Amino acid sequence: MSGGALAYLRRVHDAFRGLDDGVVATYIPELGKADPDGFSIVVATVEGDVFEVGNAAQRFTIQSISKPFMFGAALEAHGREEVGRRVGVEPSGDAFNSILLDEKSNRPYNPMVNAGAIATTAMLPGATRPERGKAMLELFRRYAGHSLTVDAAVYASESTTGHRNRAISYLMLNFGMVPDRIEEILELYFAQCSTLVSCRDLAIMGACLANDGVNPVTGERAIRQDYVRDLLSVMYTCGLYDFSGEWAYHVGLPAKSGVAGGLLAVVPGRMAIAVFSPRLDARGNSVRGIAVCRRMAEDLGLHVFDRGTPAAIGRLMQFFR
Ligand code: GLU
Repeated sequence: MSGGALAYLRRVHDAFRGLDDGVVATYIPELGKADPDGFSIVVATVEGDVFEVGNAAQRFTIQSISKPFMFGAALEAHGREEVGRRVGVEPSGDAFNSILLDEKSNRPYNPMVNAGAIATTAMLPGATRPERGKAMLELFRRYAGHSLTVDAAVYASESTTGHRNRAISYLMLNFGMVPDRIEEILELYFAQCSTLVSCRDLAIMGACLANDGVNPVTGERAIRQDYVRDLLSVMYTCGLYDFSGEWAYHVGLPAKSGVAGGLLAVVPGRMAIAVFSPRLDARGNSVRGIAVCRRMAEDLGLHVFDRGTPAAIGRLMQFFR
């Protein structure tokens, strides 16, 4: 383990703690209560080392960062072909809550926007609603390495104000894209978004994807190895809403953001970076989260299509082995 890693992360944290652009999400009253200045960065490596700065244990709701993991569960249950019939992998270039559907292929565009995520949630195996709820929490447990819970207040808030998600779902029902149990599917979708995680949990969940599907802390397999690339591909092309192209260009890592302020980026074969900072830009992405990942990608040569300068590679090896 490298002592320089923490000092490095502290420098990055210091560099951006004064960045106070953006606003906390207010689309539901509960999220508006978040402390706008909360800020943590955690790196979890494939060796199982975890480096954290800020209040890495503070919990917040996972929101859309649940989407790639639920996509993985759908793939494991139904296989690539069947899942591909029900949800595409095409970036929509639209906002997360876009009502646009790909009517030519009769599918939502991709599993990272709400429509596709709701279709993915509908594929979670289980005979009853409680069984599917259990399967979801069991899935998150394998990734995080311990049991997670749902924030009841956020869940209630999502459910009572989720008219747009209801509209998207009924429209998909109209096209035969989802089965006819909309309210139940939405309940599960709201529960997945309202699951509580810490920045540390997120980093470890991401490190499972960096580590070919195995949780590097517990040694437990979270997802079949051959589906890891499916998750990382859609995270790369669709993970940051309508900022995904800019992100892929400037940062160059598979990632997913959530409106509670979490941002998870995966460096395949090496580590995951999780940032929590609830001030969001106009597209719903964490302002400091983007700034931190961009800085780290540059400093450490992490862009997947960049060989990195010798200096950046030197820093990466010095700090994160
Ligand atoms: N619960 C949110 C919604 O479906 C998730 C938003 C997000 O993190 O993108 O509207």
